[in-house]
Amino acid sequence: MGYHIDTGLILEKLKESSECPLCEIKKIVEEQFLHEFLNDAVMEDNTRIRVGKKGFCERHFNMLFERPNKLSVALQLGTRLEKIEDLFSHITSVGTAKKTAENIEKSLSTCAVCDFVEESMVKYYKTIAQMFSREPEFYKLLISSKGFCMHHYAELLKYSKSAGFMAKHYVDLLSEVEQRNIKRLQKELKEFCDKHDYRNAMKPLGSAETALPRTGVKFYGDNGK
Ligand SMILES: [Zn+2]
Ligand SMILES: [Zn+2]
Repeated sequence: MGYHIDTGLILEKLKESSECPLCEIKKIVEEQFLHEFLNDAVMEDNTRIRVGKKGFCERHFNMLFERPNKLSVALQLGTRLEKIEDLFSHITSVGTAKKTAENIEKSLSTCAVCDFVEESMVKYYKTIAQMFSREPEFYKLLISSKGFCMHHYAELLKYSKSAGFMAKHYVDLLSEVEQRNIKRLQKELKEFCDKHDYRNAMKPLGSAETALPRTGVKFYGDNGK
């Protein structure tokens, strides 16, 4: 199971007006992996080993379960249950019970789909930095964008070294874009609040109408739910 990084998708999503183009890309990447998990990938050794080891988080189990191919989900959960059995075989005392409890808690949050998606997203973070260092046109696109959600802004900063000798210039630009867009949201939120004054009741709200959910995306990202 693999994912080919689509630079065209980066350009396309940066041109759109969402609060985070990387959240939009993540939805597409996630959709592709969910599709693969329900189709050919179910037979791949590498995927079966990963599913056995990591299982699915609740969100991805629910997303897989909502789709038509229940047999694939059942086969993969069977693989996971086999592995989970190991967790119960080491309880030899109250002390080891505590350790087992911790391992069980930990096992509930690991997820093969999350891992595959995250691996692909890291490639996107690095590719964006590389595109910045190589393509002057990309600079213009990035500077006029609406910025990123907090998580993806942090991830871009984390992988900024991929911009090579342009890295400092890149982090400066990312910060400038993010700050400008946070100011924009502050302004839109103020307009939204002002609208609640009866004296402004007749004024058109414009983009401020959706300022609250878009501020939510800026803070917490948009996972499509
Ligand atoms: Zn995001
Ligand atoms: Zn997951």
